[in-house]
This record gives sequence, structure tokens and C-alpha cells, in this order.
Amino acid sequence: GKGAAMVTAVAYRLAEQSRHIAQTLSEFRLTNEQLLEVKKRMRTEIQNGLSKSTQDSATVKMLPTFVQSTPDGSEHGDFLALDLGGTNFRVLMVKIRSGKRRTVEMHNKIYAIPMEVMQGTGEELFDHIVQCISDFLDYMGMKNARLPLGFTFSFPCRQTRLDAGILVTWTKGFKATDCEGEDVVGLLREAIKRREEFDLDVVAIVNDTVGTMMTCAYEEPTCEVGLIAGTGSNACYMEEMKNIEMIDEDEGRMCVNMEWGAFGDNGCLDDIRTEYDRSVDDFSLNPGKQRYEKMCSGMYLGEIVRNILIDMTKKGFLFRGQISETLKTRGIFETKFLSQIESDRLALLQVRSILQHLGLDSSCDDSIIVKEVCGAVSRRAAQLCGAGMAAVVDKIRENRGLDHLDITVGVDGTLYKLHPHFSRIMHQTVNELAPQCNVNFLLSEDGSGKGAALITAVGCRLRQELNN
Ligand code: BGC
Ligand code: MG
Repeated sequence: GKGAAMVTAVAYRLAEQSRHIAQTLSEFRLTNEQLLEVKKRMRTEIQNGLSKSTQDSATVKMLPTFVQSTPDGSEHGDFLALDLGGTNFRVLMVKIRSGKRRTVEMHNKIYAIPMEVMQGTGEELFDHIVQCISDFLDYMGMKNARLPLGFTFSFPCRQTRLDAGILVTWTKGFKATDCEGEDVVGLLREAIKRREEFDLDVVAIVNDTVGTMMTCAYEEPTCEVGLIAGTGSNACYMEEMKNIEMIDEDEGRMCVNMEWGAFGDNGCLDDIRTEYDRSVDDFSLNPGKQRYEKMCSGMYLGEIVRNILIDMTKKGFLFRGQISETLKTRGIFETKFLSQIESDRLALLQVRSILQHLGLDSSCDDSIIVKEVCGAVSRRAAQLCGAGMAAVVDKIRENRGLDHLDITVGVDGTLYKLHPHFSRIMHQTVNELAPQCNVNFLLSEDGSGKGAALITAVGCRLRQELNN
């Protein structure tokens, strides 16, 4: 009778729901062949970035950094470092001692950069940065020394030397006016002058990947690759000078900031991007740009998840079909929440309470589904990142004409550090896709600050040698 018909209807609806969810999540599952293909395409883009004839139109820019050696332990002195472009803006004081007992002592303070400042005028942004430095120097009682400064600036910059870098384009949450196309070191120096309060010697501009590599290389000389899996995604490595066609020198090696976040901007990843990736891209600050980064990094994974959840809710398969204000809010699923939701130790009840905390009223079934969605999105991110890294280490191996390469990758970033599965899946993918390399991952504690100071130390030494 009626009861049986209703049971059938409910059963039908449930089957439809699980079919739809399985179908959606399957779009995020990449086969081994697909991952190998991603590795191969990354390799092609690396070549395009390195070659003179293709560099102009290349998406993966392969930017020279003018860092030509890893630390040798002789670096020493007191340095100021800035770290802009990650989860936090920080000012640091780094004291490096060389000799028998090498030590690095660090003091730092975190400062907020309000969204209006990140997306206001360049002058406001740099005035704000200098205001924070002023506060920090007061706090340290060091306003009168003209300290050498290393500026970790985690955006693509075209460098012609260690202390000059033209911002190619803003990425992540930044969009301040009048900075793109300008030398960022110049903008900082001008802001220091405007304030007329203290003087600093800006010695180096450093990408966070490079700072991370250098920090790890200080402890572990086989470290010749740097990786950031955090708010953004990027890598650097020591490339043969003769392969960097934009630089005339042929001897030795130089660290290249790959800017791999822009991989896919020419459409070469379109076959694996989903409608959710396209929607995240469309509504971002930089549509069409940083497409690989938008599939791999902390700033966007939560947005992909949110887009999937909205879609499932619209179709009536989640949250009783009710799209809450929270679910409509961009950026609610920060890396730390995704990490919590995916933690294995968490009972479903706790997942529900996290969702509750975010303002999402979920049933038990809802929370299972949300967790599955998060898992599919973060797994794909880790695999894609691993495929990119496999291309890099194999390139280094071939550069050196080796059948087998042992290498260390210095890593930093909130996604890598906080997420319960990202690092493991990424490591596993690199091992599978680059079987001729034995890749050791070394977590860099505070790579951006320490690395910038080490690079600044080398810069100071080279300058002295030139003057003598
Ligand atoms: C930037 C890179 C940076 C990476 C990680 C990307 O958005 O373009 O320069 O290394 O984020 O912070
Ligand atoms: Mg950082």
C-alpha cells in the first residue's frame, strides 16, 4: 500500500543521492596514467620557461633568483627579515653565529595585514609594512642600527640581481594597486624614506621557496629543492646555469623560482579540471591565473569543497536542501578546518561540531558526506603536487646524468604541516612517479625568516668581497 510506496520512494532517493555523490567525487580521482601525464606536462612547461625562445609566453616562468650556492656555515651577523605573502606577515630579527658552534637565534612578531590594505594602494601597503617594522625595532630596541634586511616576498618577481625584483603579478589574497611591474625593493626603500624615522640596508629579495630550501640546506647539504604547500603552492631548485637561457653565464648552478602555481594557465590542465575548479577560479581575485595553485593550495581547497557542498545542497542531497548564509560565505573552510575535519581521530560527532561551529547545521549523514568531499579534494591536491615534484626531481637527475638520485626537498606551508594526510599522499606520489629518485622531505621550521637571513648574509659577504 501507501507505506510500501513511500519506502520505495525514500530508497530511490537514497540511491540517487549516493550515485550523485559517487559521481561527483569520481571527478576528483586521478588515475596513475593521468598523474604521469601531469608530470610530463610539467616537464614540458619547465622547458618552456627555461628556453629563451619560449620564455616570453611560458606559464611556468622559471625565474632566476641570483642565489648561486647553498649555505656553507660561514654565514654570520645580525639581520632583519620580513615575511610577506603567507598565512601571516612577520618581522624577524635573526642572529647567526658561525664557527664551531653554529647557532641561529630568532625573534619575531606577527602583524595583521587588514584586507583593505592587501587590496588597497601599493603606497598604503608599503607604509603599513614599514609601520610594522618600526614597531618591531622599538620592541627590540634597535632603531639606531642600520641593519641589513632580507625581504621574503612570496610572489613572482623578475630579478636581475639579489636586491631587485619586479613584481610580475600579485597572487593569493593580494591585489594592491601600482605594484605590478615595479621593483618591490624600490617600493620598500621609498616607504622607509617617507617615514624618515630609521634606515635599513635592503640586501636581498627572496621567494619563500628559496628561503625554505636555504634553511634546510644549512642543516642538510643534499637539500637542493624548496617546496611550499601552504596558502599558495610553489617550488624552486638548483638548475644548471647553462640550462637557464635567460642568463648568459654557463658555469655552476643557480636557484630557479619555478612559479609552478601558474601551471595550467595555458589550458594544459583543462581535461582534469572540474566545474568546481572553474567556479573557484572565476570568482577569485585573479581569474584564469594560478590554475594549478588553485587545485593544490590551502587558500583554494576549502573553496572547492564549499562549491561542491553548495551544488549537492542545491540538488537536495545535503543539509536538507537548505543553503545557509554560511555556506554562501567565501573562505569559510580554512586549511585548519579542513585538517580538523579530515583527522582520523575525530568521531563524526566532532565533525558535526566543527560544522556547527562554522554555522552549518548538519545531520550525521551530512557530516559523513562533508568528510568524504574534503578527502577527495585534498587527496587530489597532494597527488597533483606530488606529480609536479616528480617532474622536478627527475629533471635534476637527468641534468646530472644519473640513473639514480638521492635528494632532499625542504618543505614548509600550513597545508603540509597541518593536514593529516596531505604530506603522506604527496610523498607516496613522488615515489611512485619518480622511481629513479630517492626523495627525502625535510620540514623547514621557519624557513622564510631564517632563509632570508642566510641569503642576506651571503649577499653581504659577496658585496664586501667586491669592494675589497
Ligand atoms: C606565489 C609564489 C609563492 C607561493 C607560496 C604563490 O602564490 O606566486 O611566489 O612561492 O605562492 O607562498
Ligand atoms: Mg610562509
